Parts: sequence; C-alpha cells; structure tokens
Amino acid sequence: MFLRELTAQAEGHVKGVGGETAKALARLGIISVADLLCWYPDPEKWQNRSRQVPLKDFHSGSVCTEIRVLLVTDWEERRNVKRRKIYVEDDTGRAALLRYSKYRYEERDFFPGRRFHLYGRFKYKEGELQSGDFDAEQITEAPPRDFGGILPVYHLTKGLSQGDLRRIMRNALAQYAKPLEDELPQAIIQRDGLLPKSKAICAYHFPESAEELALARKTLIYEELFYLEVVVGRRALERRSREIAPGSDPSLSSSLQQHLLERLPFALTPGQTNAVAEINRDMEGRYPMARLLQGDVGSGKTLVAFLAALRAIEQGGQAAIMAPTELLARQHAENAARLLEPMGLRPAFLTGNMKAAGRSPLLKALAAGDIDIVVGTHALFSRDVVYRNLRLVVVDEQHRFGVTQRQAIMAKGDHPDLLMMSATPIPRTLALTVFGDMDVSVIPDLPPGRKPIKTHLATESNETKVYDFVRKELAAGRQAYFVYPLIEADINKGLKDAESMADRLGRQVFKGLPVALVHSKLDEEEKRRTMEAFRQGEIRVLVATSVVEVGVDVPNATCMVIEHAERFGLSALHQLRGRVGRGEAQSYCFLVYSTVHDGGALTGDGKKRLEVMFKSTDGFIIAEEDLKLRGPGQIVGIEQSGYLSLGVAEPFRDAEELARARTDAFALLEEDPGLLLPENRRIAQVLERAPPFSQITL
Ligand code: ADP
Ligand code: MG
Repeated sequence: MFLRELTAQAEGHVKGVGGETAKALARLGIISVADLLCWYPDPEKWQNRSRQVPLKDFHSGSVCTEIRVLLVTDWEERRNVKRRKIYVEDDTGRAALLRYSKYRYEERDFFPGRRFHLYGRFKYKEGELQSGDFDAEQITEAPPRDFGGILPVYHLTKGLSQGDLRRIMRNALAQYAKPLEDELPQAIIQRDGLLPKSKAICAYHFPESAEELALARKTLIYEELFYLEVVVGRRALERRSREIAPGSDPSLSSSLQQHLLERLPFALTPGQTNAVAEINRDMEGRYPMARLLQGDVGSGKTLVAFLAALRAIEQGGQAAIMAPTELLARQHAENAARLLEPMGLRPAFLTGNMKAAGRSPLLKALAAGDIDIVVGTHALFSRDVVYRNLRLVVVDEQHRFGVTQRQAIMAKGDHPDLLMMSATPIPRTLALTVFGDMDVSVIPDLPPGRKPIKTHLATESNETKVYDFVRKELAAGRQAYFVYPLIEADINKGLKDAESMADRLGRQVFKGLPVALVHSKLDEEEKRRTMEAFRQGEIRVLVATSVVEVGVDVPNATCMVIEHAERFGLSALHQLRGRVGRGEAQSYCFLVYSTVHDGGALTGDGKKRLEVMFKSTDGFIIAEEDLKLRGPGQIVGIEQSGYLSLGVAEPFRDAEELARARTDAFALLEEDPGLLLPENRRIAQVLERAPPFSQITL
C-alpha cells in the first residue's frame, strides 16, 4: 500500500474524526486519510520536550520542566476578559500560569500540591514570570503522552486545537502507517541510509530524537525531489519522442544564414556561434526544439533569433518573434526590415494598435504564407491571426509572458520549434526544476570592444555632481537616460517623477539640449516618435520610467541615471543598466538614492540591492542575489505552479539533494524509459496535474 492509496475518508476511518472535527479538517483541505498523514508539521516550530529547561532559563526560549501547583486564584475581570492564575514552582523559581475563561480546560485538575509536566513560553510581566501559552500534563505512574519527546506543531483552523490534531494524528499513524510501502527504489534507500517510508512518516510527525527527525526529513525530501525529477525526465523524453515532419532539403539549410552573416559589419561572438550551432542542430532534428537562450543584456540575442528564423524560413516555414512591449517589438521589426528585406525576405510587424486598414492585408498575407517572419507583441496570437506554416516561435524576454500567452502562440502552429530568450538569468536550481525539460544555451560573452560599465552610487544630496558629469558626456556628443519610479507627481510619496524631472532637466539642468519624456501612458505613436528621435540622436536626454527597461538598444547612450534607485528591484536595475555600455565608448550608471523617505531610513533590502549593483555587473550573480533577497516564493508563477509546494522539500534550499535526485532519476529513466509511476503516488499526482515546466512564468 502506498501512502496516496489511503483514499478512504478520514471521517469514520480515523479514530477521533467525526462531526465537527471532520468539518474542521475539511477546512484545511484534509479529506482522506492520506491527506491527514501528509499534513506535515510546521518545520520551524518543533517543540523539543525531550530536555529540561527550568523556569530560571525562560530567556533561552521555551521552558520544559516539572512543576508543583502552589495556588489557584479566583476569577478576576480584567479589560472585559475573565482570567485566573495558577501559581506554580519548579526547583529554580516560581511563575504564574494564566487561564482565560474562554478556553475550555480542566482547571479543576490544578489542585495545590499536584505535579505536572509543563511546556511553555514565559515573560516577565506584572512583577512576576507569566505564561498564557503553555501545555501541561499531570505526572502519574504512566509514562507521559506529550512529554519526553519532540512534538509537532501543526497549522490549525478554528475548532481544532494542537492537542486535538496531535491525538488524531497519533491515531491515524497507529492505524495506517505500518503497512505503507516504500516509494523510493530500495537501492537508493540503502545507499543513502534513508528510513523506510512507514518509519519516515511516523518519525516526521512524532520523532523520538533530533537525529531521527533529521533522517525522516531527509528521506521525505529525497523522495519528493526524486519524483519531481522523474517527472521532469519523463517530460523531456516525451518531447523528444514527438515526431514531426522532416524539414526540406537540409543541404540548403545554412545558405540564408551565411548570407546574413556576410552582410553584417561584425563577426558573431563565440557564444553566439555556439548558440546558433545548437539551435541548428535542434531544428534539423526530428523533434521540436525547446530551447532557452540565456545571455546577459547586450550579448546579442536578437541576432541569434534572426538566424534561427532564417533556418525556419529555409525549411519552408514562417517564424514569429514575440516581444513584451510595443517599443521593443518595433525595434526588432525595424532591425528585421533593415537586415532581412535586402535579402529578399518578407518581414512584417504586428501589434494590437494597428488600424484595420493595415491589419487585414497583413493577416491575409500571413495566412497565405506571403510573410516569412513576423515580429510583434501578444497581438501575434490574437484569435484572428492565422499562419500558413508557423515553424518557429521566439519569445523574447520570456519572463514577461504568462503561461497562457506562451501556450496561445505555440497553438498557432503544429508543434513549432520554441526558442525562449531571457537576459534575466535563471539560477541553476531553477533551471534544474522549472526549466528542467528544456535545453539551455548560454551566451557567456559580450561583443568585443565593450568596456565594463562604471557604476557609481550617489545620495540625492549629491545629484548636482551627477548632473555635472552627465553634462560633460552630453557635450562630448553622447546621450543619457534618466529613470524615475513615478510617471507623475504624487504629493503623498514625496518622490521625483518623470514628468516634473523632464521639465526640470530640460529647462534648467541641461538647458539648450533636447530632452524628451517617455512612459507607458503616452500613446504608441508618440512613444515611437520619441524613441526614434532618441535613436537618431535628435533627442539627447531621454527621461523615462522603467519602460526603457527591456531591450531598447541605442549604442550612443553612455549614461544611465536612476533616481530613487532604492525603489527598484535588482533585475530591473540590472536591465536598466544594460541599456548603456552597448557601444565602444565607456559607459556609466549612476544610482542616486535617498537616504530618507516615507519618514524612514533607507531599508535594509534597498541598501543591499544597491551594494550588489555596485559590486557586480554579472547578471548571473545578480540573479542569485535577487533570489536570496526576495526568496523563491516571490518569483511570479512559481508559488502557484505547485512546484515549490512540495510537502517537505524546497528545491532552492535543497539544491544539492535536488541535483543528486536528478542524477538518480535520469539514470533510472535511462534504464527503463517506459518507467510508469503508479498513478496514485503522491508526488507524481501533484506534478502530473501541473502544466509542463517550460510553460511556467518566471
Ligand atoms: P540582447 O542580448 O540584450 O537582446 P541585442 O540583441 O539587443 O542584445 O544586441 C545588442 C547590440 O549588440 C546590438 O546593437 C547588436 O547589433 C550588437 N551586436 C550583436 N552581436 C554582435 C557582435 N557579434 N558583435 C558586435 N555587435 C553585436
Ligand atoms: Mg534583447
């Protein structure tokens, strides 16, 4: 019997579960016996009642001692609450236990002279040691039930006390745990000295010692991660086994790519060359590509995407490149037109803002196969958009898209190749789990001649120095970005905003130089004109919000000034900084921060983010730090996706175990690719319900 096969309702099958208790459990989502046994204790709150902590040591945490009752006071009314005190003592001191009338308990047991085991948290108050949060059990001949060991603390709901749930859990374990079968292969259990399942589940609820708890935990964690990786591995195999129609004549396959490369004023970097080779191999293969292309900002991913598109076109198909903002999509479209049109190819640009007059001929051309490569926003998968033969989908800045959006664009073709691109590096642990069934290419290098960006931190009071510096760069013919957290003034926030600052920078600070403003509330046409003018160098200073965060590429811009930098997240800061340093000139990033706002000081996290930005320009390091600061739960999509709500394991924290589990799982699949998991195994069930890994938003 496997744990998840205990599908009988807890109500009526577990001693002590009936009526109100069953209802309370149901509120927690506990219906079956298996649900109950998998209701694991809070990992932060074990109560170690195996060692004595006398009253005098109350400071060190929880007291665990043997007491004698001295006296019980009468009920007294205090701020509408009735309360009585039970005075007790152990060998080291005296204390008062507080009882409130609203609790049900047996104060009749607390006779003076009686002895109890006591566990609780104490505070000095009203001139005495007090506890309103304690648990006592009378000392009798029989061994204590809830003392002498380590006790679990469960997450509860109204109408269910800690004591109730512990009692129910003991009953359930006594009735059902013994015959549970192991879910991990025996060889692994033996190799790692893990516990058998039946033992592990009992010990994780009611361990006899800290060692046993640790071992139980290790066992359950490994089991969860093992199944996680088995599922990852199966998905990868599944994808590889999906046959697709073979491409057209492979001997022609690289001629378009060669053609484009000859037209470029530069050579590919080694990282780009490598990525293109990997993509070519995937696209030549029998199975649809699922590849994640990672490369820091400025590493030249767009060009790799174009080269991939050429391969798809050569195979007789169409390519779609999807970008998260209209600004970025337009930039890609213009590059596509500039590079590919002269080669006789037919690129197009599609966004949601397009007028019907332009849109309908375009849609017709797409459906007829008269367009080879289409660049656009989410409009690319609008219902009325039909492709003749969509062979490649490129998702730029993939972390900006949701699961359904990616599914929608993929559905426009028949298992098209998928290339996801991101400059927000995915930490190794995530790459192993969430993207575990995707292939990954990394562009580790930047195009030659790029000088590392110099980053300076400045307090708001030093802003003039920053402005003076930028003025010199502008005088030398360069351009600058100024970024603010708000679009318009908000008196409640007391922050600089883009509108007011565009005005101030234009009229005073950089008087005589063309300064323009761009933010998300402007209409697309105005944004486009402004960006174009900035790219042409007609506008010298671009004041913006984080809309310029992704993708925008203007090599002559050498200064990025971010004011109220403490307000921005690490990945936004990294992306923003990546807007400069794209040409051969030395570039600068100024992070201007206020030390005081909202009446408080610069927060710890804000400060740490700035330090990280100051110390590193490596996107991978920044992403790892970001993860540490924000915690994995903060990453959009992960929490809901179910991957991190495994029972005990946490893929981030348990990264090392995860890597081992992956090796084990993949080895097992290699031996027996048809490995079928019993449908009712818990982990497998959780994971099978989840969407494919590659469709998760990060
Ligand atoms: P990202 O990876 O951030 O999307 P882009 O694709 O926008 O980077 O490329 C950044 C800039 O580098 C562009 O101006 C592009 O033309 C240029 N670039 C790309 N590849 C090379 C290369 N091999 N050598 C020189 N410049 C390159
Ligand atoms: Mg890009």
